[in-house]
Amino acid sequence: MQTQKATKIALVSGGSGGIGRAICVALAKNGCFVYINYMKNRAGAEQCLAELQRAGGAGELCPFDVCDMEGAAAAVNAVAERHGRLDILINNAGIIADGLFMTMSPENWTRVIDTNLHGFYNLTRPAIEHMARQKSGAVVSISSAASLAPNRGQTNYAAAKAGLNAASRSLAAEVARLGIRVNVVAPGLIETEMIQDAPKEHIKKLVPMARIGRPEEVADVVAFLCSDASSYMTGQIVSVNGGMI
Ligand code: NAP
Repeated sequence: MQTQKATKIALVSGGSGGIGRAICVALAKNGCFVYINYMKNRAGAEQCLAELQRAGGAGELCPFDVCDMEGAAAAVNAVAERHGRLDILINNAGIIADGLFMTMSPENWTRVIDTNLHGFYNLTRPAIEHMARQKSGAVVSISSAASLAPNRGQTNYAAAKAGLNAASRSLAAEVARLGIRVNVVAPGLIETEMIQDAPKEHIKKLVPMARIGRPEEVADVVAFLCSDASSYMTGQIVSVNGGMI
C-alpha cells in the first residue's frame, strides 16, 4: 500500500455509483487516500479506482453494506486502525424506491430509511469516535433537494434525507469543539444511474439553469467542504441544484 503522497484518509460510501465515483476522484486529486465503498457493483468500484489512479491518486476498494451496523463499524475501525486516523467520511450511499404513499409497501419505506438514514448512523458513529480522539475530521453527507421541497412519490426518500439534514446539524453542534466539521450537500437532479427513469425533460423546465447537473459539480462542493478552504463551515446544508430552490 502506498500512502506516502496522501495527506488525508477518506472513506466514501457508495463509491461505485455516479456521484460517489466523482467524489472519490475529487478527494484523490486533493491528495487523499480514498477507501471506495460499494455493496453490489464491484465493476463500478473498480472503474472508480482506475479513474482515481489515472488522476494520480491512490485508494482501495472497501466492500460492505451500510445497513449492516456491525459490518460498517468494522470497516470504519479497520481503516482508522490501519492508518492511525480517519480524516474524512462521506455518507453518499443511497437508494430510491419511489411510489405514492397510499400504496407504499412497508419494505419500500424501511429499506429507503435504512440505507439513506441508518447508513449515516452506522458509519458516522464509529467514525466520530476516531475523529474525536484525533481532534479533527470532516463528515459530509449527501442529502437531496427532495428533503427541502415537496416531491410527489418520494415520502420515504424525503423523510430519510430530511432526517440526514437534521441529524447532521445537531451532530455538528455536538462535535464542533472537538475540531470535527459536519456538513450536508443537497443535490438537485444529477446525471447518474439513479435518475434513469426520472422525467428529465419535465424536471429541466423547473431548473433555472435548464439542465441536469454533472456528478463532478456535486463532487467539487464536497471536496471543498472537506478541505481547509471551508474551515469555518459546519452544520450547513449546501444545495447544488442549478438554482432550483
Ligand atoms: P447511484 O449511481 O445509484 O449510486 C448509488 C450508490 O449507493 C452506489 O454506489 C451503491 O452501491 C450505493 N449503495 C446503495 N445501497 C448501499 C448499501 N446498502 N451499502 C453500500 N452502498 C450502497 O446514485 P447516485 O446518483 O450516485 O447517488 C449518490 C447519492 O446522491 C445518493 O445518496 C442519492 O440519494 C443522492 N442524490 C442523487 C441525486 C441524483 O439526481 N442522482 C439527487 C440528489 C441526491 P452498489 O451499486 O455497489 O450496491
